[in-house]
Amino acid sequence: MFLLIGILTAAFMEYMLHRYYLHHPNHSHITHHHKIFKDNYEDPNQQIKDIISSPGYIFTSSLLSLIVTIFFLMMNQQTAYWIYIWAIFYLLWLEGIHYLFHSPKKIWIEKTALFQSLKHHHHLHHIHFKINYGIGSTFFDYILRTKLK
Ligand SMILES: [Zn+2]
Ligand SMILES: [Zn+2]
Repeated sequence: MFLLIGILTAAFMEYMLHRYYLHHPNHSHITHHHKIFKDNYEDPNQQIKDIISSPGYIFTSSLLSLIVTIFFLMMNQQTAYWIYIWAIFYLLWLEGIHYLFHSPKKIWIEKTALFQSLKHHHHLHHIHFKINYGIGSTFFDYILRTKLK
């Protein structure tokens, strides 16, 4: 249960930030899209800084999840604690797999069906931009109707 709430919180933050903040025309995330397009979607020599979000951005996302956590803190300390741990785990998961999408390292996780389906989901985002905002999960793209298969 904690796992689900924590992950859903972080996935919702991820979706909202990506859709409404990162895709603002002036944001440097647009550079990520320009540098990585159809031809070099997968390239082991890709620069890590062109893929991974900035420390400031990761920190801000974790703070946003913390706001939700504080809400749960008012009900139960233990619950809030675990929710936040899973939210942070989700942030690391999404940055990690995003890196591997663009810079494959041939490790076991890349062979899993989950990884492959998320990778395909994100590939379409690099082509069409205004769909498939979720990276670590596809849940909110379904809910908010931005999912393209
Ligand atoms: Zn994007
Ligand atoms: Zn990408």
